Amino acid sequence: MAIALFSGGQDSTTLLLWTRQELREPLQALSFSYGQRHSVELEAAARIAQKLGIPHTILDWGPFWERLGVPSALTAAQPIETPAEGLPTSFVPGRNLLFLTAAAVWGYPRGETTLLIGASEVDYSGYPDCRGDFLEAAQRAIGLALARPVRVLAPFLHWNKAQLWRYVESLGYQEFIAEETHTCYLGERTRRHPWGYGCGHCPACQLRAAGYAQAFG
Ligand code: ZN
Repeated sequence: MAIALFSGGQDSTTLLLWTRQELREPLQALSFSYGQRHSVELEAAARIAQKLGIPHTILDWGPFWERLGVPSALTAAQPIETPAEGLPTSFVPGRNLLFLTAAAVWGYPRGETTLLIGASEVDYSGYPDCRGDFLEAAQRAIGLALARPVRVLAPFLHWNKAQLWRYVESLGYQEFIAEETHTCYLGERTRRHPWGYGCGHCPACQLRAAGYAQAFG
């Protein structure tokens, strides 16, 4: 079984399309509620999975990071900033490791598991848990922890946003991605641009818009 980490954003929605196209395994989308500032993301995830006809589960972790005393700009009322040195305030420490581990545990009674993640080393805001060396180590660690081989696939590891846009265009899903997926850090969904909804100014909107412009001029 293939289990895709799915946020309702551009990358992970493209990941669902890629997996459905490329893998011959039953596909399950898995989302996490972890105290995100904006519910629009999870609402988008539920709507997209339904429209694509892909089974979808949302695991509710409550305000997980806040309880640990580690708020990020995605889970608390902090501005999104990218300091000259260090990680952006949108970084959620340990998120991908915890999500991959939870997905593998969830898949454990369901047999052989392929975990899919939409991480990219190219447009990744400097998050350490979007890098290939981390993903390889996570695959090994989770496999050892469960005493069962687990495959972690990150098909977009070396893709930029423009490549993601061109890929969905080739499948006929460019407009679907623009209309349905949510990326904006501010939760803005009233202003519609060619690349979708968003404030147009936050780092997530800028990456998405720049990729669109690069792909389609
Ligand atoms: Zn935005």
